[in-house]
Amino acid sequence: MKFSILTLFPEIIETYASASIMGRARQKGVIEVQAVNIRDFSTDAHRKVDDSPFGGGSGMVLTCQPLESAYESLLPLKQPARVFMTTPTGRRFDHHFALELTQAQEIVIFCGHYEGFDERIKQLIPEMEEVSIGDYVLTGGELPALSMMDAITRLIPGAVQKFTSVQADSFYDGLLDYPHYTRPAEYKGLKVPDVLLSGNHAAIEQWRKAQALERTQRLRPDLLK
Ligand code: SAM
Repeated sequence: MKFSILTLFPEIIETYASASIMGRARQKGVIEVQAVNIRDFSTDAHRKVDDSPFGGGSGMVLTCQPLESAYESLLPLKQPARVFMTTPTGRRFDHHFALELTQAQEIVIFCGHYEGFDERIKQLIPEMEEVSIGDYVLTGGELPALSMMDAITRLIPGAVQKFTSVQADSFYDGLLDYPHYTRPAEYKGLKVPDVLLSGNHAAIEQWRKAQALERTQRLRPDLLK
C-alpha cells in the first residue's frame, strides 16, 4: 500500500510516519509513504500557493495550479487507487471506511490549510473524494491525513506484530474493547478483577465478551443498532 500525502508541511508527515509502528511498517515494506511538498510545484516566482478569496472575507485559499501540478507528478497511480481531499465537509472517516480503503494499492491525500481549497480543484481532479475525520475544524489536513494513514495501516496484516490484537480492538467486531489490566494485581487498594487472575481461559474469554457488550450498550448504544 502506498500513501502519497500532498502537503505544505511534509516534515509533519515524515516525522510521524518514521516512528513506532508506522515506521516499522514502512521498514518491513507493508506501506510506502511519500510526502510531497505542494509548494515545490508552484509556478509563481515567489512559490506562492494561496491567494485571497474572491468576494472578500478573511483567510487565504489554496490555488488550483500547484495542487493540480503536484497531483500530476504522482501519475500514474498504483491501481486500485483512491484520492482524497481532507475537509470538514467530507464523508466521515471511521473503522468501516478504513477497512474499505485497505483494498487500495495507492491512497493520495491532499492536506488543506487556511480556508481550504479553491472549489474548482474538484472538477480538475474528478476522482477526488472529500473526507472528514469529525465535526470540528483543525488548522490543516496533516492530522486528518495521518489519522487515516495510521488507522488504515494497522488494518493491513503484517503492520502490527499480532493481527489478533487488531481484531480484538474496538469496532473490529462491532463492539467497544473490553477493559485491560496489568501488574501489579493490586495498586493503591484497587484490585484487578479476580477472573483475570484465575488462569481459566474460557471464563476470561466469557468475562471479556460480557464486558465489551456492557460497555458498548452503556457508552455507544448506536453501535448495536
Ligand atoms: N473553511 C473550512 C471549513 O469551514 O469547512 C475549514 C478549513 S480548515 C481551517 C483548513 C484545512 O484543515 C482544511 O482545508 C482541511 O484540509 C483540514 N481540516 C480541518 N478540519 C478537518 C476535518 N475535520 N476533517 C478533515 N480535514 C480537516
